[in-house]
Amino acid sequence: MADIDLTNADASFVKEIAAQPGAEKIQACFTCRTCTASCPVSAVNSKFNPYRIIRLALYGLRKEVLESDFIWLCSSCYACQERCPQGVSITEFMTILKNMAVSAGHAPAGIKAQRDLIRGQGRIYAIDEFDNKKRNKADLPSLPTTCEAVKILFPEC
Ligand code: SF4
Ligand code: SF4
Repeated sequence: MADIDLTNADASFVKEIAAQPGAEKIQACFTCRTCTASCPVSAVNSKFNPYRIIRLALYGLRKEVLESDFIWLCSSCYACQERCPQGVSITEFMTILKNMAVSAGHAPAGIKAQRDLIRGQGRIYAIDEFDNKKRNKADLPSLPTTCEAVKILFPEC
């Protein structure tokens, strides 16, 4: 595993994270690594390591965390959070990192595409006139191809 370079450490990063609901106890982590041992993603991909992500964040390595691909590998299964002896809400922490990465413009292309689809149609799978013709042929009603209410919930970012 690569050494951690603290040259660009930013002390405000952990304060920003800890100020968000769900991440209040992140600094209580005492490095037992139960989270990593419990993580099904870590079991199949040793590059994904929740314990290490928490350490990088606590060291203030904003760029390394928010611009990385690995935060997007968390499947939000809650196995780590259920077992953390310090009560750290690790799954919420991962979600906060993803939200911060999106706000900083670092969402992966696939996540951006899904967000644009939900913003445009209010659903994850696109429905077009061709789909509605097929539905009508099967005596099913047409589905709307846009959703204005969702556009309000999803501001441009
Ligand atoms: S299980 Fe909790 S205390 Fe242990 S390393 Fe993970 S976050 Fe830290
Ligand atoms: S919530 Fe994420 S980090 Fe925690 S065990 Fe599941 S996949 Fe791993």
